[in-house]
Amino acid sequence: MSPVITYSRNVFLPLTFVCRNICGYCIFRRPPGEGCVLSPDEVIRVLRRGAEAGCTEALFTFGEHPEEVAGFMPFLEQYGFGSILEYCHAMAEEALRLGLLPHTNAGIMTADEMRYLADVNASMGLMLETTADIPAHRNCPGKEPARRIAMIEDAGRLKIPFTTGILLGIGETRSDRRESLEVIAGLHRKYGHIQEIIIQNFCPKPGTDMSAFPGATLRDMQETVRMAKEILPSDIAIQIPPNLADAAQILPCGVTDLGGISPVTIDYVNPEHPWPAFDELAALTKGYTLKERLCIYPEYIRRGWYHPRLRDCIISLENTIHMRGTSVIPAKPLYEGKAKSVYASENPDELIVVFRNDMTAFNGVKHDQFTDKGRLNATASEFFMKMLEAEGIPTHHIRMSAPDTMIVRRLEMIPLEVIVRNVAAGSMTKKYPVKEGMVLDRPVVTIDYKDDERGDPMINDDLIEVLHILTADELRKVKEMALHVNKVLTRFFDKCGIRLVDFKLEFGKADGTIYLGDEISMDSMRLWDKKTGESFDKDVYRFDKGDVIAAYRNVLKRIIPDSGV
Ligand code: 5GP
Repeated sequence: MSPVITYSRNVFLPLTFVCRNICGYCIFRRPPGEGCVLSPDEVIRVLRRGAEAGCTEALFTFGEHPEEVAGFMPFLEQYGFGSILEYCHAMAEEALRLGLLPHTNAGIMTADEMRYLADVNASMGLMLETTADIPAHRNCPGKEPARRIAMIEDAGRLKIPFTTGILLGIGETRSDRRESLEVIAGLHRKYGHIQEIIIQNFCPKPGTDMSAFPGATLRDMQETVRMAKEILPSDIAIQIPPNLADAAQILPCGVTDLGGISPVTIDYVNPEHPWPAFDELAALTKGYTLKERLCIYPEYIRRGWYHPRLRDCIISLENTIHMRGTSVIPAKPLYEGKAKSVYASENPDELIVVFRNDMTAFNGVKHDQFTDKGRLNATASEFFMKMLEAEGIPTHHIRMSAPDTMIVRRLEMIPLEVIVRNVAAGSMTKKYPVKEGMVLDRPVVTIDYKDDERGDPMINDDLIEVLHILTADELRKVKEMALHVNKVLTRFFDKCGIRLVDFKLEFGKADGTIYLGDEISMDSMRLWDKKTGESFDKDVYRFDKGDVIAAYRNVLKRIIPDSGV
């Protein structure tokens, strides 16, 4: 197998740009002022976008001890936090809630501060930068090499999987680089906690004291990567940033990792250098096997170097990246629905459907996100599609590539929502004089025209024909398939102690055949407990009847007892 190059899919959250250090090369730092602290709403918005884009890591990188900068505190206090680490802890909890693993680089921290953050961080980091005393660090209390080394040592004592690195071209010599690498190697030999070391080329920025500096050359990078390979224990990954350095030229020197790459956020430290898109990354690493990893490396997961609070998230994300394998989901979806995103795949006949954690009701008026919801619906949908295939009903399902990601046949979708009802409920009881719960004499098929802007109006056979949505024959076939699905599902649910009240199907065409598309999940069915009448479906969310994720899990436990949900 070709050599493996790893990377992590992340979102970058610069909680504040205010920093007590004034480094000669930095454009990240800003004085206190409007917008100097990312608001909690903004953080959550970015985390959500990251979760939707399949990211696994929330990278919290921000200015060091901003509290020491006069005028900063009011900007933080407006959000109800007394220190930046307290804020970081709260936002890391949000990240976990949305299914992302936090990695924090807060600059210098004490052992107590790291301990405080460790229950919500899978890993932490601090660039050593250099062991040399350089003019660029003259005004930086936190850049004193001895303090940085002491913190990395503390992290080792605390068994925190750690990232560090060196910055090239900031005024250090070649022998300083060697010394820095030797120090890191020594710390790792003692504590075994350095997962990765970043070899980063400094890129001079206009408007800084060091704008005229040459920065690090390609040769510097190649030489230092080789040096790192020689000096560092082989279990430390050697990382270069592919947005700053010419990765293709440096990889052969011994690079094993490309660090965090974001489909959502920019590199705030080097905003002029965009991340490569995932398909560019594949081209860049031609001849290598590109493999996704989490911010905590597999060896540290195996050793259990994480807080028990992180366990579920780590297991679920490990599963996700394992199933995603080396196939790369493009950055931009072809189509974004209310709860699923559809991406092109390398195979033109297939699409990638990601079941997101979004939950909406009343045509999107109500909208929330729930951890794990995407996986639960994807699991149910796969289960039912397979069941229906076995009963001779063609579906678009091909295989799963992750617990929340289904590879499907590309269909030309028919803009109809085909609803089968066994029991009166929902819109039927609103529109017609019938009581909720009345068992219908026979299953009824009703069809809505799928159009959010028009509120999905009900449509009839004649309209479907004259609007050229389907021919009479095709419509007959669709209804037949819907009733067949109903027969199979009703029989199955009955055995699980669940009553299938109603459900919605969507169909599409490929090569002249009609396939069942979209999803069959707790979002698209009404399911009642046969004995108690309790709802297990989206009505729990629509009408605030309780914990909707617990209800969805309950369905999965009953229908697939060994699904492990
Ligand atoms: P109703 O017409 O009573 O609102 O819905 C009937 C059934 O079809 C319910 O099981 C409901 O969940 C499903 N359904 C109707 N419209 C939609 C829709 O736009 N999206 C989803 N996911 N399900 C729908």
